[in-house]
Amino acid sequence: PGPKAQAATTKAGVPGIRHIIAVASGKGGVGKSTTTANLALALARIGNRVGVLDADIYGPSVPKLFDLSNARPETVEGKTLKPLTAHGLALMSIGFLVDQEAAMIWRGPMVMSALQQMLRDVAWGDLDILVIDMPPGTGDAQLTIAQTVPLSGAVIVSTPQDLALIDARRGVTMFEQVAIPVLGIVENMSYFVCPHCGERSDIFGHGGARDEAARRGVPFLGDIPLDMAIRATSDAGQPIVAAEPDGPHAAAYLAIAQQVA
Ligand code: ADP
Repeated sequence: PGPKAQAATTKAGVPGIRHIIAVASGKGGVGKSTTTANLALALARIGNRVGVLDADIYGPSVPKLFDLSNARPETVEGKTLKPLTAHGLALMSIGFLVDQEAAMIWRGPMVMSALQQMLRDVAWGDLDILVIDMPPGTGDAQLTIAQTVPLSGAVIVSTPQDLALIDARRGVTMFEQVAIPVLGIVENMSYFVCPHCGERSDIFGHGGARDEAARRGVPFLGDIPLDMAIRATSDAGQPIVAAEPDGPHAAAYLAIAQQVA
């Protein structure tokens, strides 16, 4: 397996890694990290060797999502870092390396050098797919990553609100400008099912991402509901695809993984 899209660039590849996919969002808080973690778990479930690089320098989520908040990577042969592991995934995050408050005030060049180190100075081993949790937004940092990392494609996460979709549209445009294939859009927090009465509510509207994907001619990858179990399992350090592998949410992430791989 491997992403359908091929990198059309000459950026130096990372030995041992077949494909690098970015998970991006136009703005923060839409569930980009939640999607990254569950998509990575789903990609592993369907038979890929998968790593996650948490490039969200200003708000790294991977340590918490995988119950590794106090973990520190070992150094191999004095220079490369060993990724941490959970559920068979290889994991690296700026959160494993530096104090959160220190990274918060980094300027662009520091961010980029940290990112290049996490990409190239980590003993990732042989991976089919490395999933990058991008910093939210479509500014300079994101553009530089898109231009310097040999990405095979990008997945855009959005909620259905108009404002989020406007930002998601910017994300699509940004990747298109640097000739990175947009693998598709995921609509997160798509709808809410009342745990008491089972009634479905489209809290933020519904279907906006599907329409947007159609307008832009990119695939719509699927929708994920707003569900307390998704938040609670993430907070407990075991994202829902790992915590409830046979549940309906895992099935939804697996369906997305099938389209991306
Ligand atoms: P981002 O990476 O875009 O900033 P996160 O993945 O960190 O967003 O999600 C923000 C918050 O929303 C987290 O507390 C997360 O657990 C929660 N969340 C994300 N997606 C869902 C969902 N589908 N249902 C319920 N909670 C969610």
